[in-house]
Amino acid sequence: MSSFEFKDTLKNSVDIVRVIGDYIRLQKLGGSARYRGLCPFHNEKTPSFYVHADRQFFKCFGCAKGGDVFSFVMEIEGLGFFEAMKLLAEKNGIAMPAPKPDFDPASRKKVSLQDLHEIAAKHFREVLYSDAGEPARAYLKQRGLGQKLAEEFCLGFSDSTGGLTRVFQRQGVEEALLEESGLCLRRNEGNGFFDRFRNRLMFPIWNESGKVIAFGGRTLGEDQPKYLNSPETPIYRKSHVLYNLHHAREGARKSGRMVLVEGYMDVIGVHAAGVKEVVASCGTALTSQQVRSIKRHADRVVVNFDPDNAGANATERSIQILLEESLQIRVCSLPGGLDPDAYVKTNGAEAYLKELERSPGYFHWLAERARSRFDMRSAEGRMEAFRFLLPAIQKLPDKLERLAVVNDMASYLRVEPGEMLDQFRKSAGDRSMPKAIEVKPDRHLPDLERVLIRLILHHPDVVSGYCDTILGLEGLAALKSHKILEAALQMLEADGSLDFPALQSKLSEADANLLAALFSSDTEDVERTHDDPAAQLRACLEKLAHDSRELQRKEMRQQVREAELRGDIGEAMRLMELERKLERTRR
Ligand SMILES: [Zn+2]
Repeated sequence: MSSFEFKDTLKNSVDIVRVIGDYIRLQKLGGSARYRGLCPFHNEKTPSFYVHADRQFFKCFGCAKGGDVFSFVMEIEGLGFFEAMKLLAEKNGIAMPAPKPDFDPASRKKVSLQDLHEIAAKHFREVLYSDAGEPARAYLKQRGLGQKLAEEFCLGFSDSTGGLTRVFQRQGVEEALLEESGLCLRRNEGNGFFDRFRNRLMFPIWNESGKVIAFGGRTLGEDQPKYLNSPETPIYRKSHVLYNLHHAREGARKSGRMVLVEGYMDVIGVHAAGVKEVVASCGTALTSQQVRSIKRHADRVVVNFDPDNAGANATERSIQILLEESLQIRVCSLPGGLDPDAYVKTNGAEAYLKELERSPGYFHWLAERARSRFDMRSAEGRMEAFRFLLPAIQKLPDKLERLAVVNDMASYLRVEPGEMLDQFRKSAGDRSMPKAIEVKPDRHLPDLERVLIRLILHHPDVVSGYCDTILGLEGLAALKSHKILEAALQMLEADGSLDFPALQSKLSEADANLLAALFSSDTEDVERTHDDPAAQLRACLEKLAHDSRELQRKEMRQQVREAELRGDIGEAMRLMELERKLERTRR
């Protein structure tokens, strides 16, 4: 089977709604086969992202991204075509043909790197449960982390004997790949490689679809740094990855909430307390890409960082980024100065859940920060505190909400609301809102053409008998949508069916958008008012033929008039005779 045959097989056996539904929350529209949600590829508050179950494609009218299930997975996971196909095949338990040379080398390399990470994860786990893993097991025990949990998070151990490099070399892995995996380092002197991670408790880091793409390693000795992470590789972009997202997304969907913590152990601790929707931005400050991944699954975020100063600063920075992506934010500060993992261990899951529930909104947390920083007894200090809060308030995308928060803050900080609003207005002038891209979904089309296109889209079986007739219509080229009609009908005639993404790809961007808009908008005109699409189609064709005759007649009369004006009576007579003949044959 060629890769392209396999692509079709695969495409027929996966459901685009289910695949996309794993990444974003989709809402079914009425009784139709259409679904709508917030676009994962641009920032929006009202959904303009559509998925069509019948035709198996998606389209966003905000940023114009669209395509089939493969394009979606490639775009959202940052994968090449081959890897996207492999991912979909594996998820659906379909055997994948071996990589063929027709796949690009970059794609093949990424797949090989993923394989190396799977091997490494397995190796580290084996070491953890071997004699060499004793110190790591002792550490886990001391942290109160049982075997069940350790297995759930696939924890492992890297000893200091260079075992992983040997495993790879036994399997004949190329040197270049060893180096690129980030798992092995080239020796400064002499030949050969050694393990990057030595004597560390190993945390596999997964991408959203649950593939190991990197590791974090916690030292068990005095080595620095305490946590060592994989470097960036072709499969690991730190700024895009959230630790545990593949576990967390389902829970986040159910509760509408995501808990954001700092470290691996915190994720595991909170997960153990029964809160599955927990992620960490491991090894980096929170980025907007990571926040967008959260937003695809939940509207609310509870930030639960360490209570120390570094944690508070990180919370402050994270709030700004979360606000930019319009998420609702609460901040959980655990009593007793404990981090989430320690708090759960000390006080139990129930106490932790209560703390999460009663976490205040972010601006109350910020206001508390401000109050401890500035002298709240003086009017000047209170204004300073307000100025400290201003950037966060300005990040709120909604104007009414901004004003409400200003009022709220004024009373909280005991500042005159009027004075505060003045300050706010002054600074609001600088605020520049990113302009949304405007795409007009429905360019004006005459009703007749709209109905005709929708008939083709929704009843291709009926239309396929008329392809010749329509393509042969004299007035076809004069129609506004003739390019769409021609492409669709030619495809229908050649293949007996319509492949929506393939059709889209044949059209100019404007036509492709128009086609998707026609498909997405209300289809009442062809679905409900007419029980008989064939009769409706024939009516359309008659009207088209009639319009085309009218047009021709008009043109001819114009030519006759021009001939008369030129004084070319012979030509005028000839044209009039021709017109009469045409009339007669049409009757
Ligand atoms: Zn979009």
